Amino acid sequence: MYSDFKIIKTTSPKSRPDQNNLGFGKYFTDHMFIMDYTEGKGWHDPRIVPYGPLPLEPSTMVLHYGQAIFEGLKAYKAKDGSIQLFRPYKNMERINISNTRMCIPQIDPETCVRAVKAIVDTDRDWIPTAEGTSLYIRPFIFATDAYLGVKPSSTYKFMIIMSPVGAYYPQGINPVKIYVESKYVRAVKGGTGFAKTPGNYASSIKAQMEAYEKGYIQVLWLDGIERKYIEEVGSMNVFFKINGEIITPSLEGSILAGITRDSSIFLLKKWGYKVTERRISIDEIFTAHKNSALEEAFGTGTAAVISPIGELNRDGNSIIINNNEIGPTSMNLYNTITGIQSGTVKDEAGWIEKV
Ligand SMILES: *Cc1c(COP(=O)(O)O)cnc(C)c1O
Repeated sequence: MYSDFKIIKTTSPKSRPDQNNLGFGKYFTDHMFIMDYTEGKGWHDPRIVPYGPLPLEPSTMVLHYGQAIFEGLKAYKAKDGSIQLFRPYKNMERINISNTRMCIPQIDPETCVRAVKAIVDTDRDWIPTAEGTSLYIRPFIFATDAYLGVKPSSTYKFMIIMSPVGAYYPQGINPVKIYVESKYVRAVKGGTGFAKTPGNYASSIKAQMEAYEKGYIQVLWLDGIERKYIEEVGSMNVFFKINGEIITPSLEGSILAGITRDSSIFLLKKWGYKVTERRISIDEIFTAHKNSALEEAFGTGTAAVISPIGELNRDGNSIIINNNEIGPTSMNLYNTITGIQSGTVKDEAGWIEKV
């Protein structure tokens, strides 16, 4: 079916992990996709090979200067046995936005989607079917020149690896505790916040660890200049429902344009909500809470899909949102998006790509 890619099948398939104990990103399928870039030649030699280690020179540029980008999406097996991808073209368009920022050459989105379909097809029996599970797909590109100088690499690899993952919330979807970060910042305008690039994550781990020690699962990032306006939560975009209106930070260069964010805005508008994308300060949230106007808060992202926020702590001052319960808007979004992804809810917007 995808015979334009060379496929070398593994001779020693791995045993499948227990579907009820997958966790996230722990197990990897039997195969991986690789394509090389060479200056003057472009992207070439797309191939599917057995999953395994890569031989790399210690001087490989990505290890020193971090010139790399990545993506994340999921494949689901529908009840009728067909395989569904959720808005994969959006991910592949975003690859090129990240590439531009990181001086990585552009890549053809159509080829990338085809590559995803080919690798998913090759490892189709790795897609878990237990409730809430899926196959997480991780495309990424990194600089491969063996050279110790700061410049754009002249060679790259585009790869796709895949991991069967469990329900993000084994106990069902539950509100999370979030720490409002006042010491560290994630990104500033002019920086790399809008690109999906590993360095953004490397620099966020410290804040996450400190929040974790205080009993919080993630941090809410504020803007890097005034430490006043809300940006996003860990690796999720964030939404607030205040007096019936849905508000989410506008995309102004420092936050990531999430596909779950985009899908949520589309659905909320379709359901008749007023949805506003604008700068929103943390003070506004705490004031809305004081006036009993803050009805819901939730994060959006591919991994958890919708993550209700039950508590926000700012400098030791804690607010509990919606009684620490999942609100109706968050619940509807979660059920609708996961329903479309797994094929139990009609895909009216044409978001599903079959493999
Ligand atoms: C990937 C990511 C998101 C969520 O994007 P989705 O496309 O919805 O998965 C949000 N914020 C950051 C920083 C991310 O890296």
